[in-house]
Amino acid sequence: MQLDEPALVQDRTPAELNAAARAYRDLGALTDRPKLLVASYFDRLGEALPVLAKAPVEGLALDFTGSAAANLDDLAAAGGLPGKRLVAGVVDGRNIWINDLEKSLATLATLLGLADTVDVAPSSSLLHVPIDATIERDIDPQIVRWLAFAKQKSAEVALLARGLREGAGAIAAELAANRADLASRATSPITRDPAVRARTAAVSEADARRAQAYPQRAEAQRARLGLPLLPTTTIGSFPQTSELRVARADLTAGRIDAAAYRERMEAEVREVIAFQEKAGLDVLVHGEPERNDMVQYFAEQLTGYLATRHGWVQSYGTRYVRPPVLVGDISRPHSMTVDWFGYAQGLTGRPVKGMLTGPVTMLAWSFVRDDQPLADTARQVALALRDEVTDLEAAGAAVVQVDEPALRETLPLRTADRPAYLAWATEAFRLATSGVRADTQIHTHMCYAEFGAIMTAIDELDADVISLEATRSHMQVAGELAEAGYPREVGPGVWDIHSPRIPSTEEVVELLRAGLAAIPAERLWVNPDCGLKTRGWTETRASLESLVGAARRLREELAG
Ligand code: GLN
Ligand code: ZN
Repeated sequence: MQLDEPALVQDRTPAELNAAARAYRDLGALTDRPKLLVASYFDRLGEALPVLAKAPVEGLALDFTGSAAANLDDLAAAGGLPGKRLVAGVVDGRNIWINDLEKSLATLATLLGLADTVDVAPSSSLLHVPIDATIERDIDPQIVRWLAFAKQKSAEVALLARGLREGAGAIAAELAANRADLASRATSPITRDPAVRARTAAVSEADARRAQAYPQRAEAQRARLGLPLLPTTTIGSFPQTSELRVARADLTAGRIDAAAYRERMEAEVREVIAFQEKAGLDVLVHGEPERNDMVQYFAEQLTGYLATRHGWVQSYGTRYVRPPVLVGDISRPHSMTVDWFGYAQGLTGRPVKGMLTGPVTMLAWSFVRDDQPLADTARQVALALRDEVTDLEAAGAAVVQVDEPALRETLPLRTADRPAYLAWATEAFRLATSGVRADTQIHTHMCYAEFGAIMTAIDELDADVISLEATRSHMQVAGELAEAGYPREVGPGVWDIHSPRIPSTEEVVELLRAGLAAIPAERLWVNPDCGLKTRGWTETRASLESLVGAARRLREELAG
């Protein structure tokens, strides 16, 4: 019987570790019980390893991939697992890349000396990867050879077990083919673009800093934008109606051409801009009608990214996503959003926000490379986005929003690993956003999360304005930011978009009062939570009207 204990790879207190030791002692003492296998994955067990090694269970499953590779030395230091079965997770259950078979065989050979029996296994369940890479017909066959989805990973596990049992000679042909595939990946112009590498290598600390400190920027932005107190805006998308999705499907199927598609999307942008002007919003958006998804839309346009046709993976429940693949060095062959922005800005005298997905989120919602540090990939994506941000600025954008909803989500499980992650993550965001003038306002956005662990990082993004999902927690995050001394502008959401219910002006006023209790009026924005694309036009219109009404009422009060 397998008991899954991934919670033990997180930092645990001595009391928790004692409790685990007692629990397994009691389970082990049961008479007439099945054999017990305790499984952990996604990171190293650390101080929990000796606890489990001593527990009276028959087997342990350990992850030996990525940051969990330290389990190998820790296991040796703990004296191995005499008398126990070790299920050795040497095939990464979460990435989509082929295994380095010779390296895994070497790990397995060491492990043979540390346990009674060694089984070969993936490091975790395979629900994190798609089913079969060989059915991807649109991907260059050379690249397909670098990919391992669930079927390929299962074959790797079986092959490694055979190599372990019968000796490497028994699988010599497969090892040679694997070596050739790894070498072709390591030397391919897809994974090594000298121009991208030269540019990332030349990045300096100053490149990732705005030239002016926030107070000067705020003043320049106030002068340029001339916004009222409690400025109103939205998070970017407007309803993705079925007509928009049908138009996109028609384009893909060749039923309409690019010009017809463009006209359809522009008609939507006209409607979105006209509504916002009429409703009285201050900083407008184009509504993102042309985006299938906030990551995929950019991935499709960046060199070095790959889309799969069948690479679906479960995100949660019955929801499936098809993450794009960061396969090679990232560059931007052309601007990705400037035309849409320009079209929207040409329709109105009010500022329209440029709208991009940030480097950390681009990584978090894609399959990442395992052949270079995440920080390097993030830096490449950041530089591509930096060019987009400065192009938007050149096209007249006074406000550019770079969404980072996944910043909290990819925080490492172990506290000790967090500072390094947050350092490269915030640097990547700043690198993407700091190429602009002082009077260009950078916004960012984050979805609801437990922000406590990343408060400092939110500050280190150095964005001029941050909007956050906050309605359901009744603006709690505004208080948390205030307590942390957050010095810049904040837009805690005041309409819970997950519900079709339309808030009244009074309700929004109440939420804004809660916001004002934490953030001074000069630094408070009025916006809904994120996810307008999932709503219909009826509730969108009415709720945004309530929101503008509430902002106006409070402005009058404050003026009085
Ligand atoms: N700009 C995106 C939108 O409005 C942000 C989505 C998100 O918060 N995840 O849809
Ligand atoms: Zn969000």
